[in-house]
Amino acid sequence: MQRCDQLAGFSEEAETLTRPFATESMQKAHELVGHWILEAGMRVSRDNIGNVHGHYEADAPGRPTLLLGSHLDTVRGAGKYDGMLGVLVAIDAVQTLHDAGRRLPFGIEVLGFADEEGLRFGSTYLGSRALAGTLLPADLRLVDAKGVTLAQAITAFGGDPMRIADDRWTGGDLLGYIEVHIEQGPVLESRLLPVGVVSAIAGQNRYAITLTGEAGHAGTVPMNGRRDALAAAAEIVLAAEEAALGRPGLVATVGKLDVYPGATNVIPDHVLMSLDVRHAEDAARVETCARILERAKDVGAERNVAVDVKQLSENAAVPCSRRVIDLLSHAVQEAGQEVLLLPSGAGHDGVAVSSLTDFGMLFVRCKGGISHHPAESVAVEDVAIALDVLGRTIEHLAAG
Ligand SMILES: [Zn+2]
Repeated sequence: MQRCDQLAGFSEEAETLTRPFATESMQKAHELVGHWILEAGMRVSRDNIGNVHGHYEADAPGRPTLLLGSHLDTVRGAGKYDGMLGVLVAIDAVQTLHDAGRRLPFGIEVLGFADEEGLRFGSTYLGSRALAGTLLPADLRLVDAKGVTLAQAITAFGGDPMRIADDRWTGGDLLGYIEVHIEQGPVLESRLLPVGVVSAIAGQNRYAITLTGEAGHAGTVPMNGRRDALAAAAEIVLAAEEAALGRPGLVATVGKLDVYPGATNVIPDHVLMSLDVRHAEDAARVETCARILERAKDVGAERNVAVDVKQLSENAAVPCSRRVIDLLSHAVQEAGQEVLLLPSGAGHDGVAVSSLTDFGMLFVRCKGGISHHPAESVAVEDVAIALDVLGRTIEHLAAG
């Protein structure tokens, strides 16, 4: 917990925690994390994209490797635990082995991913995609708000953008990737549980919807026959909510609404709205999206408002590995806790790492379900339980 506090001091902004990819604050965080990695008996290195690696040798050469970790970047105005907690818990698990002078029949690679949140380049999982070998040459041309390309940022941070392909895992067989992360939601708290085992990362569809009606004077155009784009948008927002409420586990959100011309005395003729739909099962997500969009078309027809739907992205759900789920569940039970499986509505590095190896996650209860905010809070007792669960998981793997 003290280490989380220390890392929170490395920020690009004075008052809040903001640590984007390949910045000076990230450099400082790396130095300190590298120091802790060495202390825990690991070898420390950094790859081209800027992931910090800690390597704990196995008991013999040629053994497989277990990947543990999370990310070290943050959103703007972040809390102290999203990402960092998972890296620090992983280092602590290795420290325990090191203190006992133990080597296992597998190596452990602790990963501090350089970019998960995508704050600087608007593209998520830069670090874990480099590890998985799925970062594309086109990604290097991404540009940040100051006009710096990803390739330039990598160079400035000490990596070689032409050698990103070298970051792909080549260390032999993998046993899996396990990440400890705060829940970022209220489910564990409401169930009075300190930890939970993640079943899947929810799939997600994003749309930009443009509604075009007709402007007119708010005082002189009668209500009958108006083509109010905002009134149509309002119906679509409620239709999305209704469709989501009708299906357990589904979430649908309109988080952005731009109204034009945006004047008190003018009927809106133009609305741009976002739509974000997520579910842990692909079929449920796809069906609900279809239902919401069909309803949007109907609303447009009823109101004589043109509805144009553009799909921005579609990401399938990524199920956690059954084997890792069982391992973690068993360890949770042994730690004396009730086992709860829950999906993650947010994306995580496991999405990218899943193309390399089995992955699983352990969620830690966070206060009020709040994340991406300075009020982010976890209880030291819950972190202790997460450590216990991770330690037991490693022991089970070692016992074969
Ligand atoms: Zn995170």
